[in-house]
Amino acid sequence: MPGPSREQVLAPETLDDLAHLAVRRCLDLARPPYSESPEELTRRYLTPAHMAAVDIVQRWMTHAGMTVRLDGLATVIGRYAGSNPDLPPLIIGSHIDTVRNAGAFDGNLGVMLGIACVQALGQQGRRLPFALEIAAFGDEEGSRFPQAMLASRALAGSLAASALDGADARGVRVCDALGAAGLPTRPDIASLKHPGAIAYFEAHIEQGPVLEAADQALGIVTAIAAQRRFACRFHGTAGHAGTTPMALRHDALTAAAEAILAIETYCAAGPDGLVGTVGTITAEPGAPNVIPGEVFFTLDLRAPNNADRDEAADALRVVLRNIAKRREVGFSIEDLHNLPACPSDDSLSDLLADAVRSTGGSGVRLMSGAGHDAMVMADLAPMAMLFIRCAGGISHNPAESVEPGDVAAALRAMVSFLHRLGDHYGVNQ
Ligand SMILES: [Zn+2]
Repeated sequence: MPGPSREQVLAPETLDDLAHLAVRRCLDLARPPYSESPEELTRRYLTPAHMAAVDIVQRWMTHAGMTVRLDGLATVIGRYAGSNPDLPPLIIGSHIDTVRNAGAFDGNLGVMLGIACVQALGQQGRRLPFALEIAAFGDEEGSRFPQAMLASRALAGSLAASALDGADARGVRVCDALGAAGLPTRPDIASLKHPGAIAYFEAHIEQGPVLEAADQALGIVTAIAAQRRFACRFHGTAGHAGTTPMALRHDALTAAAEAILAIETYCAAGPDGLVGTVGTITAEPGAPNVIPGEVFFTLDLRAPNNADRDEAADALRVVLRNIAKRREVGFSIEDLHNLPACPSDDSLSDLLADAVRSTGGSGVRLMSGAGHDAMVMADLAPMAMLFIRCAGGISHNPAESVEPGDVAAALRAMVSFLHRLGDHYGVNQ
């Protein structure tokens, strides 16, 4: 006998209730003992606040019907078995650590929505063909130790054992912090690698204004941006602000000013998704009556693919060099940081777009300018990401906020996506 249709299985109010619960849990996690401070939300990797969150997340997962384990880098992994034990699991993950003075939803909402998906399936007494594993990573932000995404790198099998010797600002190494959190100080990193998954899925607040501008609750991530960061230096001649005529100056700061505007102009006219940012600048010697002789600034370039990013980098090198030449100042540029683009899996993203459209959304696609655990987990399995609109695009800020209706739409889309993927792998039960 055919089973009831998806839509009849679970009343929308029930999913709305589960979405509200997910939001409430994020807000609960924003206060002590889950925050290092009562005044603001700060929950850094392996602090007592993080381990308190690990504890409550384990309890929520157990309550939702999952078997729960804690891996050697404090990643909580809850498993809801599937009907076909031969299939690898689908991993739904995000992070439960935060930046300093954070918002409640960055990362945490993705974990809570993963748990809500299992609750929804459990309430229906249903299993997907594959198991669902919900992963709560403890270190995405890199707000304590030098390297970010330690936890997801370990699960994806790309973490070097030397990362455990990285130390925080107080000199506490990752291995020491693991010990203080009650975990083995030297876990066997190779054994932490996940044996394999059919896919990795992450729901995350957008942390930008694109969905709000498009009047859409949800968007499908096409790729996590390719990033490059440069150190740029203009070398002029410091001189007396009163005695050096304008025509005889070699002002490093006016050259830098022209360069920064040229970067803005180039990126604004560039291919879709290209963004360039000068985020720090220093001028030496830095006195009101001295013409600046040395200027340093950083350039952060991101694009949906490596080719657009690298073309912009090459073009801007030439533009900046020409500005320096015309102004008769020296110029140097140094590569600081290079992260390739991480494209989402096309067929998973199409399935996700269908799921979003089935809940009334347009299935708009957008790039993720920010990095996420998903870009690390893409080493392990094909990856797809769902973005949820956040007010004003504001994130890494206590003002971070989401609409309950948007979270409910996300949960509906996720449950629909899981059933669609389940249909692909066999009969849902
Ligand atoms: Zn995040």
